[in-house]
Amino acid sequence: MMKIENYIGGEMVEPASGEYFDNFEPATGEVYSLIPDSDDRDVNLAADAAKAAFRAWAATPPEERFAILMRLVGLIERDLEPLAAAESKDNGKPVSLARSVDIPRAAANFRFYATAAMHLANESHDTHGAGGVHAINYTLRQPIGVAGCISPWNLPLYLFSWKIAPAIAAGCTVVAKPSEVTPMTAYMLSRLCIEAGLPAGVLNIVHGTGPKVGSAIVGHRDIKAISFTGGTKTGEEIARTAAPMFKKLSLELGGKNPNIIFADCNYDEMLTTSVRSSFSNQGEICLCGSRIFVERPLYERFKTDLVERVSALKVGDPNDAATDVGAIVSRQHFEKILSYIELAKTEGGSILCGGNVSEPPASASGEPLRGWFIEPTVIEGLPFDCRTNQEEIFGPVVTIMPFDTEDEVLKYANSVRYGLAATVWTENLSRAHRVASKLESGIVWVNCWMLRDLRTPFGGVKDSGIGREGGFEALRFFTEEKNVCVKL
Ligand code: NAD
Repeated sequence: MMKIENYIGGEMVEPASGEYFDNFEPATGEVYSLIPDSDDRDVNLAADAAKAAFRAWAATPPEERFAILMRLVGLIERDLEPLAAAESKDNGKPVSLARSVDIPRAAANFRFYATAAMHLANESHDTHGAGGVHAINYTLRQPIGVAGCISPWNLPLYLFSWKIAPAIAAGCTVVAKPSEVTPMTAYMLSRLCIEAGLPAGVLNIVHGTGPKVGSAIVGHRDIKAISFTGGTKTGEEIARTAAPMFKKLSLELGGKNPNIIFADCNYDEMLTTSVRSSFSNQGEICLCGSRIFVERPLYERFKTDLVERVSALKVGDPNDAATDVGAIVSRQHFEKILSYIELAKTEGGSILCGGNVSEPPASASGEPLRGWFIEPTVIEGLPFDCRTNQEEIFGPVVTIMPFDTEDEVLKYANSVRYGLAATVWTENLSRAHRVASKLESGIVWVNCWMLRDLRTPFGGVKDSGIGREGGFEALRFFTEEKNVCVKL
């Protein structure tokens, strides 16, 4: 069986324990490779390698970092097909999605930060003090040192690169851990880094579980900043360790995003996008709208059309180009989603479509795939404050409910502990701005969804996290600011 390896100090290496655990293919439910069961010994080696590489990398001119990162972009683009196939096999997502979104966006992240690092500017201020004293104040931004990057399973290479790219571009060296649920494309990336000529120790990738590898990264004295994307509960744990060590922290956490539909919206566009924004990637995108609120005059029409469209989604083999909804990432997550569908029923919800384990779809060879498939599910009749409408499910499950007034829908939308993303559908310009400004959410999309400009800051409010990724914010996150005041 194929063994994934760690990438430490520029070499592909086995874990110190010599132990591995199973990597499952969600579509078949079968083990297809082995993941290093690394621990603090591997993290220590990786941190030592990153520390040793730091000074030289920080002193490497941005143009040289740019050249290396752009070579990596070229290699990711060259390997688009194998990377997309691996991402789909590892995660269960349709290969068409990995090919059109995950892998191109991973390349785009490296490209954006390769160029952005050449344009990071520092401010200077002409300062006039009492008694005619004149000085110049300037802000130096210097790479912070060794950074720790920890990512989740839902957009594996994309979110991994979203952290690593700005860290490396800013001149930091990195100890990174991809999710143990989907490690394959990070492993492939490590081989591409060697091919691109990334100096040894600049990026180190340690595979393994959160409790063994993730917590060793967070608790390591020499790792000065932690950039984490994952669940809110894990974020709390990380903050408990990192805060007393005064580490810089960026936490991108869970969500329970509202999709608010006013009766005056562009109906066809709203309907098509709402199906996508709820069910893309099996609903396993942190930005998916999982609570749909519809202005009452439109409610019945929307409900009928949504159910018709969702029922027509093809649950199938991730390799099949016609598949809309692939497999759920793991047995554990599959069971969690099913338990929420049961909870919705006990809370009084009516299942309008879906709600069951899907019939095993056929593979290309005609054999049934015995992995983890769930029918896309629409539920109505639940109060806004029940558990189903308050807790993150992170699957192909959406609730719908009507509303009468703007104040009412804002109360529903803002009632959750999360505040990651929201979508608003209306043709009324002032309402669009008014509602956007009142939503407790880090991102608001008006008449669109998941349209991202890498220059804009990204992140959540409330329990969806702290700090911002994207744009120059991410580059600055990986630097330390020093104010120098020179009397003239
Ligand atoms: P998770 O929190 O279980 O795991 C995320 C990563 O943290 C994994 O690499 C895991 O091994 C590691 N980890 C687990 N315990 C750890 C610990 N004690 N210390 C350090 N690291 C630890 O999340 P997941 O199930 O992989 O991902 C799904 C979650 O991620 C959802 O809540 C989703 O909303 C969230 N998410 C958020 C964003 C965002 O941008 N806000 C994006 C994608 C996913």
